[in-house]
Amino acid sequence: MSESRRTNLSPSALTFSWDNCHRCLWLEYNHQLRVPATMPLVGELAEMQESYFFSASGLAAGTPVLTTSMHPDIPLGKVVSHGGWVQSTPIKVNGEDTHLDIRGKYDLLIEFDNGTYGVIDCKMQANESNKSKFYSPQLEAYAYALENPVKGEPKKVSVLGIYAWSLDKPWGDVNFGFGYRVKSSWYPIERDPIALEKRLTDFVTMVNGDMPESKASCKQCSYIADRDAIIKGK
Ligand code: SF4
Repeated sequence: MSESRRTNLSPSALTFSWDNCHRCLWLEYNHQLRVPATMPLVGELAEMQESYFFSASGLAAGTPVLTTSMHPDIPLGKVVSHGGWVQSTPIKVNGEDTHLDIRGKYDLLIEFDNGTYGVIDCKMQANESNKSKFYSPQLEAYAYALENPVKGEPKKVSVLGIYAWSLDKPWGDVNFGFGYRVKSSWYPIERDPIALEKRLTDFVTMVNGDMPESKASCKQCSYIADRDAIIKGK
């Protein structure tokens, strides 16, 4: 067992990374070796979109934004937090604590009048596309951490969903400046703790097992192998 292995599971690892080849994930979670990646503009656009509804202009300080100003289909609630960290108690597999807990940062937290909460993940998309099924384990992981926090009071989560902006058309002029008009979409996600439990079990089993095979079709691994062969031949 590597001493440098990760002890926090990031909710996003349950979607993109899990869907990809498991060898990179195994290396990251056992040796903290991450694939270098750059995602130009993604972080900046996401931050702008999320903060727009957390600190909306025109509202007196401390006045929460209501979900009705985001999309009419989102259940009525107040946006009470943006980019908050959550950390769960240890993940259990077959009733036993594992070395991993869930730790991550949600986009928006909604509070409803009945005392329950909602977690909204914000997305920027080129075209309207419902990815709620794909993101379900990630959102369910935030709910798990809020309902089973390592510190503080548990929060009951009743709503999960994706709030997406997709590109519509450019607008503006040279005097006012230019922008992209976007369409907003709401994709609710059904709570599914059983599916999360299965994904977490599969994840922990993979991480605790032998290093998985790499994917033959991955250009990154072919690049590393070709590069190593050249360097070793010098
Ligand atoms: S094939 Fe190699 S580089 Fe590609 S995801 Fe798997 S381990 Fe990573």
